[in-house]
Amino acid sequence: CGIFGYINYLTPKSRKEILELLVNGLKRLEYRGYDSAGVAIDGADSKNMALIKKTGKVKQLEEEIASRSVDLDMDGTIDIHCGIAHTRWATHGVPSEINSHPQRSDTENGFMVVHNGIVTNYKEVKTFLQNKGYFFESDTDTEIIAKLIYHFHKLHPTYSFRELVEQVVQQIEGAFALCFKSKHFPGECVATRRGSPLLVGIKTKNRLSTDYVPILYGKDDTSSKQDAKPLKVYEVPEKKESDKSHAEHRPHGRSEVPV
Ligand code: GLU
Repeated sequence: CGIFGYINYLTPKSRKEILELLVNGLKRLEYRGYDSAGVAIDGADSKNMALIKKTGKVKQLEEEIASRSVDLDMDGTIDIHCGIAHTRWATHGVPSEINSHPQRSDTENGFMVVHNGIVTNYKEVKTFLQNKGYFFESDTDTEIIAKLIYHFHKLHPTYSFRELVEQVVQQIEGAFALCFKSKHFPGECVATRRGSPLLVGIKTKNRLSTDYVPILYGKDDTSSKQDAKPLKVYEVPEKKESDKSHAEHRPHGRSEVPV
């Protein structure tokens, strides 16, 4: 229902500060309604990523984070860091911890994604991936996105993070705003959208700025990719009119969620 991503590369921040930022971001999105919440950040060992999910209110997620402050190494600082966060309003799969976002590619948290919207062709993609041997742990439509990007990463190991996301969005139908994080691309965050809203704020040298427009790839791509900073956001052209109307439509009330 609400996605929030944060990347810092100007001043090092402690893990505690980053988590606070992510949780505060979620609090700003609470008005949209939700049944569960989650965050992913780089763990104490930069190779491991911490995934914290909770059903219920953001407050409960906050308490869970506080209870794990020792293994999360709250005071440790990180120079370049990307965190993603989500409040979920279930459309596919009951509200539960495993169905909450971020959804992940594998038990090592190789790729993680937060999603606002509905993937309408998730069943076909899921069957395709299951036939390739992928095991699904949740009942969400979103999990296919995390598995699919992992699949493309294995197929094309030289592709950039952005190129992998581009491959993924060509395969999925429906409406989405997505934010990705990966242990294979530390310090990078890729966001994209089709149908669902996505707002990007960029702060440079203590002021909000649009100077960094070249990092916003997509329709207005200036091709100044040498100026690219780790945050990469681009907009996917509208696919079909029908996708748009689907974005507004939430077919399953909380009690009618298919299981
Ligand atoms: N369709 C996704 C799910 O049910 C995302 C729902 C949302 O926008 O929160 O997990």
